[in-house]
Amino acid sequence: MSYVEKKGDCWLWKGATDCKGYSIFYYKGKAQFGHRVSLLLFNKDEHFKLTPGKIVCHSCKNKNCVNPGHLREDTLQSNSKDKHMDGTAQTGDKCHFSKLNWNQISEIRSSNLKIPEVARKYQVSEQAIRRILQGKSWISQPEIQPLPNLQLSFLQLHLYAF
Ligand SMILES: [Zn+2]
Repeated sequence: MSYVEKKGDCWLWKGATDCKGYSIFYYKGKAQFGHRVSLLLFNKDEHFKLTPGKIVCHSCKNKNCVNPGHLREDTLQSNSKDKHMDGTAQTGDKCHFSKLNWNQISEIRSSNLKIPEVARKYQVSEQAIRRILQGKSWISQPEIQPLPNLQLSFLQLHLYAF
């Protein structure tokens, strides 16, 4: 199964995302933004490290794009639009905009109600409920795809693309 869909030059991450739509990988024991991990994995210099205090920005408009060619390090000041990207990915009730909590999430996941009814009950969008049910938001660590799948998808993409 591939977690990456090619759209134009972009490699769109189809796996888990955080509450704002940024890709999440489970890497080195924690949930991290895919664009940061991608830049690390695809750098030809094996000793390459992300510079502390710098953030990883997209040159394209797709928040879930993990094409290392579309990613660059930049300072926070010169890229205020991408200011979320420093540090570790936030999921579930760590999200600022989150109206729900983990107890409600398990109620929602075990509910027999239809999606519009659940959305009304918890006063969130149907899209938000769908993402919860599909496991794309409110991700506990074991649900976050492990890295080998990603490396495989990248590898396949490289073989097809170049
Ligand atoms: Zn892109």
